[in-house]
Amino acid sequence: MTKAMDFDVLIIGAGPGGYHAAIRAAQLGLKVACVEKEYLGGVCLNVGCIPTKALLHAGDELAASKHAAEFGLTFSDTRLDIGKLNKWKDGIVTKLTGGVGGLFKANKVTHLIGEAVFVDAQSIKVGDKTYTASNFIVATGSEPAKLPGLDVDQQSIVDSTGALVIPDPVPARMLCVGGGVIGFEFAHIYNNMGSQVKIIEFLPNVIPGADAGAVAAFRKAMEKQGIEVQTQTKANKAEKQPDGTLKVELEDVKTGEKRTETYDRVLVAVGRRPRSAGLNLEGLGIVTERGFITVNSRMQTNVAHIYAIGDVAGNPMLAHKAMKEGLVAAEVIAGEPAEMDPVAIPGVVYTSPELAWVGLTEEEAKAKGYKIKTGQFPFAASGRAMTLQSTDGFVKMVTEEGTDLVLGVHIVGPHASDMLGEASLGLEMAATAGDIALTIHAHPTLGESVLEAAEAVHKQAIHIVNR
Ligand SMILES: Cc1cc2nc3c(=O)[nH]c(=O)nc-3n(C[C@H](O)[C@H](O)[C@H](O)COP(=O)(O)OP(=O)(O)OC[C@H]3O[C@@H](n4cnc5c(N)ncnc54)[C@H](O)[C@@H]3O)c2cc1C
Repeated sequence: MTKAMDFDVLIIGAGPGGYHAAIRAAQLGLKVACVEKEYLGGVCLNVGCIPTKALLHAGDELAASKHAAEFGLTFSDTRLDIGKLNKWKDGIVTKLTGGVGGLFKANKVTHLIGEAVFVDAQSIKVGDKTYTASNFIVATGSEPAKLPGLDVDQQSIVDSTGALVIPDPVPARMLCVGGGVIGFEFAHIYNNMGSQVKIIEFLPNVIPGADAGAVAAFRKAMEKQGIEVQTQTKANKAEKQPDGTLKVELEDVKTGEKRTETYDRVLVAVGRRPRSAGLNLEGLGIVTERGFITVNSRMQTNVAHIYAIGDVAGNPMLAHKAMKEGLVAAEVIAGEPAEMDPVAIPGVVYTSPELAWVGLTEEEAKAKGYKIKTGQFPFAASGRAMTLQSTDGFVKMVTEEGTDLVLGVHIVGPHASDMLGEASLGLEMAATAGDIALTIHAHPTLGESVLEAAEAVHKQAIHIVNR
């Protein structure tokens, strides 16, 4: 008789992917353990989504307190207590990570503390203990990519984790290296808190993957707030001066021209790398590509009972993708007919205004050979946006000509992330612009702008002149 396994499923990593997989597997009656070496909730809860959103909110409230003068509300003494801000943010993280621990207990998921390494295809080692399982899910996530010449010390040269601790006083001059989502979110936070911020990006455009028209409006809104953006520029090195400032050598990628600028803090946000090394995946013959573990749509690696999910299993590196993949892996293991086959995965930059999108950009739709129609509705024509003092941006809908199918929705504006749910559902359910236009949306709401963008596709929007 074969020896009984310790667990039906053993999950490595308790980030969004890992804890979703653990809880769903337990809900389906499996005996589950989750190994975590650092913190419950992974990057997202501890040093990613949640603390950045807390800081973004605080910065936006600070900015809003200044804009309130427009409607007659003035504050005689608006002061930011940075110590209290950092504590408040940490408190939210503690509450949420504690919540994951509570959910593990309630669902009878065994939480193992330590770093896991595969011994063979049926067992892992954590410290000096070995555990066996019938199935494994690798959910080890990712870490910040490094840049030669810019050595992160988490004080003056920081990665996203170091940038979460706002220094007191805030840096007078801040350079964000990398014009992606993380670079813009931190630029927005520090800019709102009083730093003079510049973003440099190697590529010709910022926020790669988003609709070019939406990105242009988003960039304009950020620049209007005082954030300087320079594309086709790279940082070669940063040297600490005796007075504590940083001398940074920047290079124009097109001309090769170099110049030196002085900053008080530099953020390196040039992407993230999958965390697949050190697990002994090579020993098991598990296929990886540039560090990402190769999986099929059922989240299986080439070793069928070993699954991989989340950041370590490929792009886009987003929490909601990791969560869904975790559910799929758990359900497949439990024998359910699950598959990772989304029509689209939404993306969001949580600045003010936000940039949010789901589905195909105008450029992608054209490149795929679609004949398209677009409809655009500006927030400047939205009554609700005016009452919120937030009229920058628009909703843009990309549809297929003839079928009227919605292919993509791109929003620059207030609460764009929350409006995106409707668009995501629409795409999953193969909605047409007509379906969205026929749906009664409450008035006055920002969501009406999605309806009007759908109407604009048919040149029948009411609150703008249709061209
Ligand atoms: C600053 C920042 C902001 C972000 N904001 C957002 C956002 O707003 N929305 C969004 O969707 N995404 C956001 N992300 C991305 C999001 O955090 C990740 O996509 C998500 O955390 C990936 O989840 P995961 O489960 O794959 O891995 P992770 O969250 O990286 O978790 C992996 C876990 O595995 C553990 N681990 C690794 N190796 C081992 C081992 N050998 N043994 C035991 N444990 C191990 C790690 O300690 C970690 O806790 C942000 C990321 C950053 C850095």
